[in-house]
Amino acid sequence: MSCWNPKIEMMPRFELNNVQLKHLRAFAHKLYDQSHFYRERMVEAGVTPDDIVTLDDAVKLPFMMKKDLREIEQARLFMVSNNELVRYHASSGTTGRPTIVGYTQHDIDQWCESVARGLMSAGIGQQDIVQISYTYGLFTGGLGLHYGAERIGATVVPASTGNTERQIDLLKNLGVTAMACTPSYMMYLGETAQRMGVSIKNDTKLKIGVLGAEPWSEGMRERMQEWLGIKAINIYGTSELSGPLWCECSEQAGMHVWSDLTLAEIIDPKTSERLGPGEKGELVITMLQKEALPIIRYRTGDITTIDEERCACGRTHPRIGRITGRVDDMLIIRGINVFPSQVEYSLMTNPEVGNEFQIIVERTGALDDMTVRVELKPEAFTDNMAGIEKVRARVEHKLRSTLNIHANVELVEPGALPRFEGKAKRVIDKRKL
Ligand code: AMP
Ligand code: ZN
Repeated sequence: MSCWNPKIEMMPRFELNNVQLKHLRAFAHKLYDQSHFYRERMVEAGVTPDDIVTLDDAVKLPFMMKKDLREIEQARLFMVSNNELVRYHASSGTTGRPTIVGYTQHDIDQWCESVARGLMSAGIGQQDIVQISYTYGLFTGGLGLHYGAERIGATVVPASTGNTERQIDLLKNLGVTAMACTPSYMMYLGETAQRMGVSIKNDTKLKIGVLGAEPWSEGMRERMQEWLGIKAINIYGTSELSGPLWCECSEQAGMHVWSDLTLAEIIDPKTSERLGPGEKGELVITMLQKEALPIIRYRTGDITTIDEERCACGRTHPRIGRITGRVDDMLIIRGINVFPSQVEYSLMTNPEVGNEFQIIVERTGALDDMTVRVELKPEAFTDNMAGIEKVRARVEHKLRSTLNIHANVELVEPGALPRFEGKAKRVIDKRKL
């Protein structure tokens, strides 16, 4: 079995814990001394870096939420000068505003290191040809997987998303052995190949899929492995933490979270108390060595468990299980995060749009489809069909630029959508995982 960094990946647990504690303490000191934002947070929480004596003391540190990243002036959180920044990425925020994430070269190196370890643990190596069909650009999937795969010496096909027939030609003609994409795109690729008369299982060399950025299930894994003849590997990360970071090893029994770079905790989302191994709760992450945008106890909103047992692959680093849900109302549509509040924000900028809307998410074939049904204001509801179509097209266009994905817009007459006495239920998610 190949291993990218055997010294660290196989390090005895007690030694690894010491390494982790050393980094945690140094990180807490650095933030306290150099970041106004974190010092303020620590003072509020009544903790100083000297209170971090054991790994369990991490619970004394304050949490960081997605909304914190959005609300704070970048300058308050970024800890390096522009000269030291080498890249920006962005993810959707909880309103229309994206969260901007900056990286130093050291941040990028550590991100690559995480991905490199993960890919190799999944059975990918120098001999492999990896087609990256995550979006390249501000979204972290494309470049994150790209540099990780290059680091282990694999050959990269930077296909990005779209043009599926061409993707299948590349897959076949270049002898691609591993694909990195969303699980729904993998299914869609399989369906398109079938229509083209190509069997992924029999006519290509594809053997591994590195699949993530959206929730998927064991059932989907089984179906894909059987139908496409691949080993379907789960990969997880969020842009706030860097991007895709941890994936399953070939045991397919959880995703190794590299303890020298990261501290992973599970908490009860209601009480914020830390939970033990095997207990289901919200994943909280501290990136122990990040420079540009330091992250302490980031509440990911993702529900999972943590397994501290040594893995059958020999790696000593803990594993997180499949993400089984979210603590908030974030939807993931074609790998893109969508908050209903973003939809509302965009809709309300149109003077013709009334107060009620409904979001319907369906899976047609392998891909997600989103429709937003929007009530018009009484004064905007006319029988001038051309005028209404103009409004519809504008609302659709605005939504697209806020969400970064296409949503079909249907305009409906005032009063057509349900009203709620209690909490509004504006999202109808018909997808079956
Ligand atoms: P982004 O910040 O755009 O990279 O999105 C990160 C979010 O995507 C995470 O917080 C998860 O909710 C979701 N996500 C990423 N990878 C997975 C995965 N393998 N399974 C389930 N959800 C995932
Ligand atoms: Zn393992």
